[in-house]
Amino acid sequence: MKKTILLDMDGVLVDLVPEVYKHFGKVYDPETYPGDTYCLTEALGMKHNIWNEFDYEFWADLPKTSYCDKIIARAVNLAGEYNVHICSYACTPDAAAGKLLWLEKHYGNLWSQRLIMTRNKWVLAQPGYILVDDRCQSCREFGDEGGESVIVPRPWNEMRAFHKSWGDVTLRGMYEVYHNAV
Ligand SMILES: [Mg+2]
Repeated sequence: MKKTILLDMDGVLVDLVPEVYKHFGKVYDPETYPGDTYCLTEALGMKHNIWNEFDYEFWADLPKTSYCDKIIARAVNLAGEYNVHICSYACTPDAAAGKLLWLEKHYGNLWSQRLIMTRNKWVLAQPGYILVDDRCQSCREFGDEGGESVIVPRPWNEMRAFHKSWGDVTLRGMYEVYHNAV
């Protein structure tokens, strides 16, 4: 059976969190990140919706995570380039434009054409579809709807105990889930 891998952007391919901290003049420290929240507005102690402050250039200029290239290479290696898609949520129109530009800048327009934007990633769930994501709720919903998932352990999610080796845990998880998936 042909299998498809869906890769999340923020927190997986894109190193968003430290740059948001920097924007507000704060230093991101994974060891002291408030692990009980996935919400950056809460983690930063902000009361307003912070996302309107970021223009498309902010999103387009975000750095890759240290494992971005390795995660994409692993996905391509497992499923074949044409069976790997990027699945990301854009919280503002600027985020949407910036994410397209980011993909095009780093990987070319064949990859920006593979971008699926939705917060409801579960609509894509089906047997043989694997979501790689740092948002546990998205992974759970994807599983509930018949897909498979790999939770990327980061300081802001339930897998935070493994965050120091998050990249290797993710690469291993992708291999295992891919080969166990229906
Ligand atoms: Mg994410």
